[in-house]
Amino acid sequence: MSKQILILPGDGIGPEIMTEAVKVLELANDKFALDFELSFDVIGGAAIDKHGVPLADETLARARAADAVLLGAVGGPKWDTIERDIRPERGLLKIRAQLGLFGNLRPAILYPQLAEASSLKAEIVAGLDILIVRELTGGIYFGAPRGVRELENGERQAYDTLPYSESEIRRIARVGFDMARVRGKKLCSVDKANVLASSQLWREIVEQVAKDYPDVELSHMYVDNAAMQLVRAPKQFDVIVTDNLFGDILSDEASMLTGSIGMLPSASLDANNKGMYEPCHGSAPDIAGKGIANPLATILSVSMMLRYSFNQLVAADAIEKAVSLVLDQGLRTGDIWSSGCAKVGTQEMGDAVVAALRNL
Ligand code: NAD
Repeated sequence: MSKQILILPGDGIGPEIMTEAVKVLELANDKFALDFELSFDVIGGAAIDKHGVPLADETLARARAADAVLLGAVGGPKWDTIERDIRPERGLLKIRAQLGLFGNLRPAILYPQLAEASSLKAEIVAGLDILIVRELTGGIYFGAPRGVRELENGERQAYDTLPYSESEIRRIARVGFDMARVRGKKLCSVDKANVLASSQLWREIVEQVAKDYPDVELSHMYVDNAAMQLVRAPKQFDVIVTDNLFGDILSDEASMLTGSIGMLPSASLDANNKGMYEPCHGSAPDIAGKGIANPLATILSVSMMLRYSFNQLVAADAIEKAVSLVLDQGLRTGDIWSSGCAKVGTQEMGDAVVAALRNL
């Protein structure tokens, strides 16, 4: 039976970058006989315009029924002033929560051709290839109780709660080990076990899960040290697994090592590796409609989808190879351009990847 992929282009540059990613996906579908069936729907501001809400029930039902979801980006100034509860970003949070996407994978890969685009010295980052596995549906962002209370002296006190159950830790640890197993076989679990009770349990459970993965080398690191090591010697890492809060911060830090957010894909997975795939960047309203956005993060999200939801490793490798070949040709969108390279637009970049993939 065909595999169903739901495409949600979203807003701003979303439709532009998605057009290019779909061209690559359709070619991969034919070339590798993947038997994918694509369908399209709206999310975010586009859904507000059509349905009055950022994620219609029928769209959510189609996402549930699909084998994977490919998303562009949501949001923009047009919807910034509407009621908070129906803003475009709410659609994104809702679809992630409703699909139970607890495992967020954010690779930070620096193509050697782009080493000059990083804020760090080229020798520190050239060839960087880290995967951050972030727990996405638990921890302090969701913990209760939370709020503001009044103390006896009349002063207000704000508080949050950082809960993690054994099962929540176990399932994200497994994602970390599974990923490490098919990569460099090194997993670094990042926590703050010297201070936080939730981190002490985190470490204990990660140690337990490690027994099932004798082939993966496990290390632990406190989050403050991890933040430092990421800018000091990032290539020491293969896979990092961490909680929601630490992962939020560290994955943004790691993404900047690679120079441009326009290059970074992401995946969010449920317990059965059903996933939603999207670029790390937003809808970039400042450049929307100009045909200059970098489509590579979305194209690389397609390759993550083939790898993690469909186990189509040959096709996934081919797309990544095609992207690398295009960079070898010196083609660059504005965000990754440096002197001596040819500046191209969104469509030209997409066409170049299609041509490279076709010739592989
Ligand atoms: P952004 O990622 O959209 O843009 C930040 C900067 O990076 C801008 O200068 C933009 O032009 C540039 N940029 C982003 N993607 C690019 C690409 N593919 N090619 C070239 N340049 C690119 O972040 P922002 O400006 O903070 O947010 C804009 C809108 O996007 C807001 O409405 C925000 O809420 C939304 N947003 C959505 C998501 C998502 O859909 N996952 C994530 C972040 C922000």
